[in-house]
Amino acid sequence: MKRVLFVTSEVYPVIKTGGLADVSASLPEALSRQDCDIQIILPGYPAALEAARTAGSRRKARLSIGQYHVTLWRTRLPGTAVSLWLVDCPALFDRPGNPYQNEEGQDWWDNAHRYQLFCRVAAMMASGQLGLGWAPDIVHCNDWQSALVPVFLDHLPNRPGTVFTIHNLAYQGLFSQETFRAMGLPDSLWRFERLEFHDQLSFIKGGLVYADRITTVSPTYAREIQTPEFGYGLDGLLRYRSDRLSGILNGIDTRIWNPSDDRYLDFHYGPDSLSNKSQCKARLQQQLGLEVNGAPLFGSIGRLVEQKGIDWLLAVIPPLLEKGCQFAILGSGEARYTDPLRTLAREHPEQVSLTVGYDEPLAHRITAGADMFLMPSRFEPCGLNQMFSLRYGTIPVVHAVGGLKDTVVDPGQAAGTRATGFCFERPNEDAFLHAIDRALEYYSNRKQWRHLQRNGMAGDYSWKYRAREYLALYQSILTEQCKRN
Ligand code: ADP
Repeated sequence: MKRVLFVTSEVYPVIKTGGLADVSASLPEALSRQDCDIQIILPGYPAALEAARTAGSRRKARLSIGQYHVTLWRTRLPGTAVSLWLVDCPALFDRPGNPYQNEEGQDWWDNAHRYQLFCRVAAMMASGQLGLGWAPDIVHCNDWQSALVPVFLDHLPNRPGTVFTIHNLAYQGLFSQETFRAMGLPDSLWRFERLEFHDQLSFIKGGLVYADRITTVSPTYAREIQTPEFGYGLDGLLRYRSDRLSGILNGIDTRIWNPSDDRYLDFHYGPDSLSNKSQCKARLQQQLGLEVNGAPLFGSIGRLVEQKGIDWLLAVIPPLLEKGCQFAILGSGEARYTDPLRTLAREHPEQVSLTVGYDEPLAHRITAGADMFLMPSRFEPCGLNQMFSLRYGTIPVVHAVGGLKDTVVDPGQAAGTRATGFCFERPNEDAFLHAIDRALEYYSNRKQWRHLQRNGMAGDYSWKYRAREYLALYQSILTEQCKRN
């Protein structure tokens, strides 16, 4: 049985800012059911320590790293049998706000120190230095917050294999040279083929340069990030390491996201009982103060940031309002998007609903109650919402990039038979609106629409097969190590 340490800065339901948290819960859970002893390590944020108190926890180690005192707690990920280790260091992690930012939405000034310490403890645990009686064969790191782990392990003999997964290349963990010096990292790391990136310290380069394997969360994104358009200046390095780079599509937790027994819904349905989906729609319209009628209802959930193409969404709303369409929008993010959305909601209360904030029950109700789900992301490493929507018979309209391209099949691609949604290629609002118009045409033909819905609902979006791809990847590293030794 393979032992894997999964290093992550967020995990659902303990602490979540985005898709990384979903994946950090559901992938380990799926792996634990497939001959894998996988354990998760997470910073001891207040919410995490609180969850540990509720679930029961044991203190497993105490250590000092520089000026910092650390306690390592062991608990379980709520609702699973997966072990969860918490790096409790009050000086760095006992803070309000989200993991990375204060309540005003500014990055914590000492994020480099916070995540360096987290990486150090994870590397010590991974190399068996903490005497815990458990050490992994593989360390699986995720995004920049855990990207120094492969660096710290690199020089050790008999070290575990390392995987680094890019969930979003746009977030790289860049810090000044002074910060690099203050962190006490060896001078030898300040080179462009190591951690230096245009005169800055780049955490993510730790993963990209030092990990045995690099993965991204969809095959298309793995190809895209090797181009200047999507590579954020790292495309050269990624091309250089392309023989170590692959894409494995994310799955979703099909127990939490299941329209036939979703705990947040008043009405349940499946591919053969879609009439209850209309009840979900009516209930949602009622709850959001939208007019309860048969008008096409578009859903949108997520971070309101440039990546998600919110400017294109803003551009298509007015012409669609003229056609009588409705919008249920849930998200949080930048004022340049929330302000105009608020104005639209105020001016058209019966057609536009905006909820600013994080609201999980509402996310489920919108996914179930909407007819179509809009995801015009400029780039999308994988995206989860389109898969939730497909499973809920809610037709996605997406920009054909990254994981959106890998999960949504346009009628134009599949001669109509396997189609599940609508894609647009050109990165602009006209192309987006054209795709929505095509969707509306389908919507007016009930039989065609049902066909699309059933196709989407029949898809397998679970982790079962995707987790096996990770197992095969882990095995390939271990086989390579065996040959080397
Ligand atoms: P990203 O990680 O780029 O934010 P993903 O589509 O991969 O995007 O994952 C986003 C996750 O966060 C999904 O589970 C989505 O439903 C959830 N989510 C995002 N914003 C909100 C919100 N305001 N309320 C509830 N859930 C949200």
